Amino acid sequence: MASLVCRSVFAATRRGVSTTAVRAADRAMNDPLEHATGIEKREILAKQAGREDPYEMQVYKRVAGTKDKPNVVPSVADYRVVGCVCEEDATAINWMWLYKGEPKRCECGYWFKLVDSKPV
Ligand SMILES: [Zn+2]
Repeated sequence: MASLVCRSVFAATRRGVSTTAVRAADRAMNDPLEHATGIEKREILAKQAGREDPYEMQVYKRVAGTKDKPNVVPSVADYRVVGCVCEEDATAINWMWLYKGEPKRCECGYWFKLVDSKPV
């Protein structure tokens, strides 16, 4: 009896599976913009308008960084966390809070200043 059960299980696994490719233009996925709402929709619209980094998350190269010409950090809020790679071969990032209207000097000597950014 047990061998009979095994045979029926193996018989089920030997069945062939056939699939067909669906390639019809009228059955394509809808545009993601039609489904997106809220912040996701605003993000897609910003990218379509040419703003590739709407949240200003890219890594910036430091400029002179003096008190008169500080590194400019865009933010939509009154504060932002900034990470400075103080030395080129440093293995750690020096994180600090930066507040609007209060330029701050990193431990390495570079100055940073928060400026307004356009919200998404
Ligand atoms: Zn630094």
